[in-house]
Amino acid sequence: MAKSVTVRAPCSTANLGPGFDVFGMALDALYDNVILTKKGKGVVIVSSDNIPLSPSKNTAGLVVSAMKKEFKITDGIEIKIKKNVPAGFGMGSSAASAAACAVGLNKLYNLKLTDTELVEFAGIGEKASAGTIHYDNVAASALGGFVVVKTKPLNVVKIQPPNDLVLCVAVPELKVPAKKTKVSRGVIPKKVSLSDMVKNISNASAIVAGFSEKNSELIGRSVQDVIVEPARKHMIPGFDKVKKNAMAAGAYGVTISGAGPSVIAFTDKKHDAKKISNAMKRGFKAAKKKSEVFICKPSKGPIIKR
Ligand code: ADP
Repeated sequence: MAKSVTVRAPCSTANLGPGFDVFGMALDALYDNVILTKKGKGVVIVSSDNIPLSPSKNTAGLVVSAMKKEFKITDGIEIKIKKNVPAGFGMGSSAASAAACAVGLNKLYNLKLTDTELVEFAGIGEKASAGTIHYDNVAASALGGFVVVKTKPLNVVKIQPPNDLVLCVAVPELKVPAKKTKVSRGVIPKKVSLSDMVKNISNASAIVAGFSEKNSELIGRSVQDVIVEPARKHMIPGFDKVKKNAMAAGAYGVTISGAGPSVIAFTDKKHDAKKISNAMKRGFKAAKKKSEVFICKPSKGPIIKR
């Protein structure tokens, strides 16, 4: 059996507007690189990036510890992490490392886990970053494409996105709080009106239909969220302007990427993604924030190297 495995896991966007905690999509923009090696005793994290190195505080460490216990793996595991996905910007950074570990250990020990089992283990990592287990980002990172997470019992459905779908992810230069996801979960209303619920279900259903029918315009026009986005947008300087500018430049829809502060615009190959990106940059600039915009397509998922 091999001694080590290398996994490159993609960043992801969660929610896609109305699909809070349910929808995720892997993005071909940035990847975390994780090398898992059988070595010594226990779980050791090696990284020169600004992330916790204690296995109980790192999403990767939690996943490896849980899988070691579940599958009675007695080898020690060294987890070497090279981050590329910036932590805390709503691009599923913590999830990319967690997903890479679940996929990597599955390969290293030939565990033959199903997609849903992989996601279940990867989700354990999110406890370290968000305080609660949620599966939208890890499912996207581990499986690639667009994912729908059904819980209790966990069941993850993956749908291949349309080939012409294009995303512009604008990442503002901001100081994000250490427990950003936890903070931004705290501002969401505990109760919602029936009419808002209907609007979000309608849009969420249309998104799933859009992915099934490979209709990028339907997906983009449906990333409308009347519940979570209005409660969170004040945490993103310039959000309204970024959104308005992107729509005026031809985006089908714009929303917060995951818990933010990144903002994601949906378009297709018929439109000028560069023009949309520049419009988003100008929106952040009006709020005195610099930003970087990634023009990307959905990712097919992790790449495993021996
Ligand atoms: P993101 O959407 O980028 O995952 P979160 O706020 O949910 O943003 O997670 C980032 C937090 O998770 C940071 O406080 C970071 O220190 C912590 N964290 C723990 N392990 C990791 C990891 N392996 N990669 C990135 N962030 C991690």
